Amino acid sequence: MRRRVRGRGDLPRAGARPLSTDLARSGGLRVVILGSGTLVPVATRGPAGYAVEAGSEILVLDGGSGTLRRLAQAEIDYRAIDHLFYTHLHPDHTGDLVPFLFAQRYLPEGARTRDLALHGPPGFAAFFDQLRPIYGRWIEGPGYTVRVRELWEAQTQVGSVSVEAVPMRHSVPAVGYRLTASDGTTCAYTGDTDVTEAVVELARDVDLLIADSAMPDAHKMDGHLTPGLVGELASAARARLVCLTHFYPACDQVDVVAQCRRTYAGPVVAASDLMSIELLGPAIAARVLPPPADRA
Ligand SMILES: [Zn+2]
Ligand SMILES: [Zn+2]
Repeated sequence: MRRRVRGRGDLPRAGARPLSTDLARSGGLRVVILGSGTLVPVATRGPAGYAVEAGSEILVLDGGSGTLRRLAQAEIDYRAIDHLFYTHLHPDHTGDLVPFLFAQRYLPEGARTRDLALHGPPGFAAFFDQLRPIYGRWIEGPGYTVRVRELWEAQTQVGSVSVEAVPMRHSVPAVGYRLTASDGTTCAYTGDTDVTEAVVELARDVDLLIADSAMPDAHKMDGHLTPGLVGELASAARARLVCLTHFYPACDQVDVVAQCRRTYAGPVVAASDLMSIELLGPAIAARVLPPPADRA
């Protein structure tokens, strides 16, 4: 059964924080777009980042520069985040890792005591080991441990959420993540990838596919998808809702949703910073909320 995506006229008014009652009851997922852009500085879009809330857990997928501030704008408490998942090491996906760790030192209610788990593809552990002698205690507090784990064709569990890492096709080792909530609600995030059958595997029958759509169809870049290619892959995977993201400025000059709809018949949204998508459990509705400034 296809999810129904509400039009803007149906959008709830006030802020959706904390996790909505509907969502808490359904056991579904809420995704907040922390960055829908790339390395190119533009006023309206920051580099990649996505917060996913499921029950009491908050997972952050990628964290380019500016995503820490976006968390604050989304009223998501950075102190409640214990698990970060990086798709690859490009700076537009990792730029706020050091600021995030540094921010853990500022906890007015007392020192952090819960461990922090960082996940990434092969090479991530060596990357973090090189940060340790540079930043030392500024990125690792005395009361907790930063645990680093590399994932590649691997599955791990965060509370009630299952996270699967699937290798993608990019210019450096990169994975996409597929999250499954306790009620079976699923969300897949490609990170950066070119066309590969692995995207179809990642997104098979998924409730929400968040997909790299870096450039318009006419200007494809190596290592990235376009809206039309995302549509082809989403159709093959039978994804129920597609969220296009990771837009270079050229994407704002065309109708990326229309390009995707040429190859995909289901609902499509174009990400914007601070947009949120609530997946209210299998066979119920997905609700897309625009950024707070547009919610008046
Ligand atoms: Zn990249
Ligand atoms: Zn990127």
